[in-house]
Amino acid sequence: MKIALFNDFKLGVVKEDRIFDISSIASWDVKNPQGSLVQLMESFEELKPRIVNSLTSAESFSLSEISLQPPVPAPSKIVAAPVNYYLHQEEMNKQFSNAEYTVEKLGFFLKAPSSIIGPGETIKLPFKDRRTDHEAELAFVVGKRAKDVSASEASKYIFGYFALMDITVRGKEDRPWRKSFDTFTPIGPWIVTADEIEDPNKLGFRLWVNEELRQSANTKDLIYDCYKFFEAASSVLTLEPGDIVTTGTPEGVGSIDKGDQVRIQIDRIGEFSVSVDYK
Ligand code: MN
Repeated sequence: MKIALFNDFKLGVVKEDRIFDISSIASWDVKNPQGSLVQLMESFEELKPRIVNSLTSAESFSLSEISLQPPVPAPSKIVAAPVNYYLHQEEMNKQFSNAEYTVEKLGFFLKAPSSIIGPGETIKLPFKDRRTDHEAELAFVVGKRAKDVSASEASKYIFGYFALMDITVRGKEDRPWRKSFDTFTPIGPWIVTADEIEDPNKLGFRLWVNEELRQSANTKDLIYDCYKFFEAASSVLTLEPGDIVTTGTPEGVGSIDKGDQVRIQIDRIGEFSVSVDYK
């Protein structure tokens, strides 16, 4: 199921090019979308048949006439993989000689939840004179509280998957500083529940800046795949329901500038675009 937030945080289910308003079925509170999402995930198995049945009578809209919001609007944290594809490590070494390690030695970093924006919104570049890059990534939302969960059990704790851009100022500052500016985490277009993703570690994905294809890769090349990275993160901290985990970017990162349109697309999930402007 594709679960979307739209038009001031209503709850929707997307089928083909339409979105069905199911806010009333899930006792959704538009004033507390993150809390409502956590509740929805907790009771999802129970609610699922009712949601499916309700679609015939639910009010629906064409996707072209609504605006999507970030599908996970306010997690307690965003846990992010640093270097987690070998070809990205290589390109970073060539350009900055600062990526000799992978996730194995670097662990993870946290991005500020306040950096989240949704489809159609605008990345606001804080500096005109510093290189700021796009990073296309597969991300997921945690469905159940998790601590010390092994890779083999991790799939039971993942509610669903979506696309994430980890926008990054290049330089010597620590990663959380370079990656936590407001608007630096566009996510979307919706959550695709885990049952519809046959293997998250075998998903093609790509990113364009305007018409130029910049990144084209597959999660099969992750060094720490979704489940192994889940294990690594949950061995340190408690992953709360509604938290975001993002798996790292492949090769092809490059700079963005005012006026650009950045589009990300992941197989079986979908795509969305954001604009770029100066702050
Ligand atoms: Mn990244």
